[in-house]
Amino acid sequence: MILLDGKKTSIEIKEEIKKTVSAIKLKGERVPHLAAVLVGNDGASLTYVGNKVRSCEYVGFKSTLIKLENNISEIDLLKQIQILNSDNTLDGYIVQLPLPKHIDEQKVLLAIDSKKDVDGFHPENFGRMSLELDAFVPATPYGIIKLLERYKIPTDGKHCLVVGRSNIVGRPISILMSQKRISGNATVTLAHSRTKNLKKLTKQADIIIMALGIPEFLTSDMVKDDVCVIDVGITRVVDKNNPKGYVIKGDVDFKEVSKKAGYITPVPGGIGPMTIAMLLQNTLQARQWNLS
Ligand code: NDP
Repeated sequence: MILLDGKKTSIEIKEEIKKTVSAIKLKGERVPHLAAVLVGNDGASLTYVGNKVRSCEYVGFKSTLIKLENNISEIDLLKQIQILNSDNTLDGYIVQLPLPKHIDEQKVLLAIDSKKDVDGFHPENFGRMSLELDAFVPATPYGIIKLLERYKIPTDGKHCLVVGRSNIVGRPISILMSQKRISGNATVTLAHSRTKNLKKLTKQADIIIMALGIPEFLTSDMVKDDVCVIDVGITRVVDKNNPKGYVIKGDVDFKEVSKKAGYITPVPGGIGPMTIAMLLQNTLQARQWNLS
């Protein structure tokens, strides 16, 4: 079994980005600038945004954290989005999801200037990605592709099963895996909560990408020998023995499935850190597109 070490790979990618930023600085040009909008005080969101800001600092980007009250109105949030859209010192920004229930997430994501949409959630970027045109690819699917690429995992003609069809993970990765590209050319099946006899599909698959958010859902009796398993799931499970009061679990029973798998990602230390690295990559790309 080969462990697909997302932490190590993400550090390699961050080092490469850091070098590029140093070269930008040497030329006396402005370094990439990423902003993050955080609404409210959700613990997990605070952690994710904190990690993103720290990673920006590590590679030499400028970063700005915009913290807004949980009770901000949709109109005021949209005004904030317009300010960010017209800020010429900013290459890209993200709005950390989920947003409070009284705010229409789609409305907010649609208001983001697609040229600054480094999360790749805007329909223009989603459409361009689907058509294999230059686009910001959503960071998590992009991280999966890069990890497969760096470990030279064969994907050509393989049966790839994606479990979960969300707009930010499942659906985009199913598109990317089916494209004529490196770490693509797979025959893809996209499964979801209405899929019948999922076990029959998981047992056939050469590559399984789990993105549903149910801890340890994929068990060893559901997979064939030498399967490649990518675990996107991140769920906080209450654990009174842990000083934090919780542990992070993926969608895969890692202990048992890793005994059968050819390749597998851990949680934590798999797709999570790769997601952050690819957000930085998208921001660097935004800076380069701004220059040209
Ligand atoms: P969503 O809740 O948006 O989507 C979950 C998907 O799983 C849905 O398509 C749902 O089907 C499907 N599903 C639910 N139950 C089952 C089931 N029993 N069998 C088959 N399919 C099922 O989740 P996200 O895509 O946003 O996130 C998925 C997981 O990935 C979460 O744990 C999240 O925290 C994590 N995540 C991790 C990231 C990272 O950086 N590593 C980034 C983003 C997410 P249906 O559509 O029919 O409801």
